[in-house]
Amino acid sequence: MTPLLIRDASIHGLAGRHDVLVEDGKVTRIDAVKPGAQHPSMMGSNGPTSTVIEAEGGLLARAFVEPHLHPDKSFSLSDLPASETAGLDHFARSSRIKASFTAEQVARRARRAFDLAVANGVTRLRANIDVDSIAGLRGFEGVLRAREEMAGILDIDLVAFPQEGLGRDPAAHDLLREALKSGANHIGGWPNVEDGDQAQRAHVATVFDLAEEFDVDIDIHADCWLDERERMLEVIADETIARGFHGRVMASHCCGIECYRDDAPCVAEKVAAADVRVAVIPLNLLDGGPRGMARPHLLRKAGVEVIVGSDNLNDGWYSLGTLNPLDRIYMAVVGGGFRDDEVDAVWHMVSGGAAHALDNRDRAQASAETATDVHVGMVADLVLLGARSRVEAVSQPGGGITTIKRGRVVARRKIEERFPLSGFSKATFRAEEVTS
Ligand SMILES: [Zn+2]
Repeated sequence: MTPLLIRDASIHGLAGRHDVLVEDGKVTRIDAVKPGAQHPSMMGSNGPTSTVIEAEGGLLARAFVEPHLHPDKSFSLSDLPASETAGLDHFARSSRIKASFTAEQVARRARRAFDLAVANGVTRLRANIDVDSIAGLRGFEGVLRAREEMAGILDIDLVAFPQEGLGRDPAAHDLLREALKSGANHIGGWPNVEDGDQAQRAHVATVFDLAEEFDVDIDIHADCWLDERERMLEVIADETIARGFHGRVMASHCCGIECYRDDAPCVAEKVAAADVRVAVIPLNLLDGGPRGMARPHLLRKAGVEVIVGSDNLNDGWYSLGTLNPLDRIYMAVVGGGFRDDEVDAVWHMVSGGAAHALDNRDRAQASAETATDVHVGMVADLVLLGARSRVEAVSQPGGGITTIKRGRVVARRKIEERFPLSGFSKATFRAEEVTS
């Protein structure tokens, strides 16, 4: 593979500008650029044979991770005319649309979502796919095809997700087994959809049974509503400890804990003891209000790895969604009650922290927020942004995004330049001249 040289980049944690050399899919060298110098060392040895990207001071960062997306549903809102779903709640509307899925249609829409993710700097993604008596395996087959097309561009986990429940939808059991035999590498769940506490606990137990049977990890929806009666996170933590599944469970949403009173710290400690990772979803609204952020400060203080995902994208559950990690960061800062000087912590939740949560079972390898985001020896899954810093990237994005997967440029997206402040002043001045 041709070496890749990225010249004159800003890197979080390093002062000044740097040249970064990528060889055989890894970062092999980072040299500080001396003011006035013509990139001496790397240009001499590699210049003629390297692909060169002029960063012009743009921020080079570890590529983003999307830990929670439903690509089988993405862009499906218009699959049925609005007249056929009018008056239905989100659950019923989504199920009605799902009934019309074909594998071809899902493959096409999922591919569109994956392309969008990559264009936004994502190189790692976890896909939840409905496997139930309504979708059958059509959604799964469609996403599987789209994943094949993304080989070498986007790494994708497949979660077989019984959206309609297990007690409520017994046919899902065999379908989940089929999906797990056919390439799903995680088992999903959503206990809260079952009728009553006992059925919800049985749902959790069945998910763990399947995880044990197929030796796969768990990625489970829990407590998706902002309601103190949403209580499955603690049950999942208990089951994780009882089954010895530490580090193998991701729970998403977990909004109920926002409403718990005195027992919230106790639940957080249990989640930490089980090493259940928590994916919060700040961009998603439901029933006219925010769904909550699972008290990230409380969970993080207890030692829980909290990460940030997208969830729905223009589907029956949610018509909006941008699949843009920078939007996720912005919304998580606001929705999670972070301070504006905590952008680095939230950035970590969509990059290094999210990658750790998805890939590592071993808590001892827990990823700290590293001082240097890009470093020698790392796999070159990188994103080059037009902004000079993280704060600027989140608050004033512009100038383009280049996504690099294992040392190869896989997407380049031009974003309209921000209007420079000096230009704005001039324009204002001219306007004043005209009116006076
Ligand atoms: Zn979800």
